[in-house]
Amino acid sequence: MPELSPMLKQATPVLAARGEGVHLYDEEGRRYLDFTAGIGVTSTGHCHPAVVRAAQEQAGSLIHGQYTTVLHRPLLTLTERLGEVLPHGLDSLFYSNSGSEAVEAAVRLARHATGRQNIVVFQGSFHGRTMGAAALTTSSVKFRAGLGPLMPGVSIAPFPAAFHYGWDEQTATDFALRELDHLLATACAPADTAAFLIEPVLGEGGYVPANERFLAGLRERADRHGALLIVDEVQTGVGRTGRFWGHQHFTGDDRVLPDILISAKGLASGFPLSAIAAPRSVMEKAWPGSQGGTYGGNAVACAAAIATLDVIREEKLVDNAAEQGARLIAGLREAAAGRLEIGDVRGLGLMVASEFVDADGRPDQAAAGRVQQEAVSRGLLLLTCGPMGNVVRMIPPLVVTAEQVDEALGVWSAALDAAL
Ligand code: PMP
Repeated sequence: MPELSPMLKQATPVLAARGEGVHLYDEEGRRYLDFTAGIGVTSTGHCHPAVVRAAQEQAGSLIHGQYTTVLHRPLLTLTERLGEVLPHGLDSLFYSNSGSEAVEAAVRLARHATGRQNIVVFQGSFHGRTMGAAALTTSSVKFRAGLGPLMPGVSIAPFPAAFHYGWDEQTATDFALRELDHLLATACAPADTAAFLIEPVLGEGGYVPANERFLAGLRERADRHGALLIVDEVQTGVGRTGRFWGHQHFTGDDRVLPDILISAKGLASGFPLSAIAAPRSVMEKAWPGSQGGTYGGNAVACAAAIATLDVIREEKLVDNAAEQGARLIAGLREAAAGRLEIGDVRGLGLMVASEFVDADGRPDQAAAGRVQQEAVSRGLLLLTCGPMGNVVRMIPPLVVTAEQVDEALGVWSAALDAAL
């Protein structure tokens, strides 16, 4: 009998049969509190009735429209609706199916729009697994090992990861900006640089938030050198961090506007859909037909995305992410107090994590793995992340309640007791 490829690494032994809200149920009916949300995807919770209804209705009238052959209403409506939440000026949209595809689309567009090749990425970022995206990814060497030669024209600059360097945020930011200037002066000519590509919060790289001064520094350098600023909001977008877009934490009233924004994951509550948004003046520098795809902007996925935006607005899920995220991080900090094994607790909104270290302060992947497994065996689904796999993250659906946060924190404490 054929099997599932052993290339996949399974984080839990759960065989999910059904999902509802923040819960998953296995085939025996055992209930799990899902603080993974399918890696930050099920924004409105599993099988939100409004999303299910929208997808069912759409599937009954048109499943596949193929947007370079015919247009369809869900695609047009979604484009209009995204205009309500996108930063001002990003008024032109291109759709694909996954985060990696959207990252590639953004980089292709940046190269076409500027006529330049170089892309500057920041150490610890994850941008996807396709060959182009793998060349942009530095969250762990496991995503690059054995794949070379990777796409050329990618330069890596430091991210202001204060905990990693053992510095405060100011020192880490000064360092990162200084090193970026050094890179641009020594190895990556500004005149050849198409774009700076950044995650507002490092995701797979360990849930490390950037900061206002760093993003302002990138914007200033992009303007000075005629390069574009691309924000990868695949994991941080659609309300996840307690703002609609993660970068808005650092840009206040849109003072630091991205030139290209990348969205996926939470956008359609679990249906495959991704998008890039840019000003029309940027998009029109690429020629018609320069990008496309068979499935991008699928009608059922677009209908699910429209319903997702409705639910986020009606149920005030961005505010809920901020509120429950604050509760969660406070609880995690309390749980970490006095435990030397937890070196740092950080995050934004409902994107929070605890970093495990050994007695010398070095990354402790084994401890993180034990805690994750103890939590899973107690019915709380969690994932690890970070360059060394020593960070345990919590990324529940945005519909999570205070009671469910408290329940998860209770299981977390028990898992810490059992594992450490
Ligand atoms: N960018 C970021 C920031 C991500 O977190 C991810 C997925 N974890 C991707 C890109 C790639 O998305 P996908 O797996 O849908 O290709």
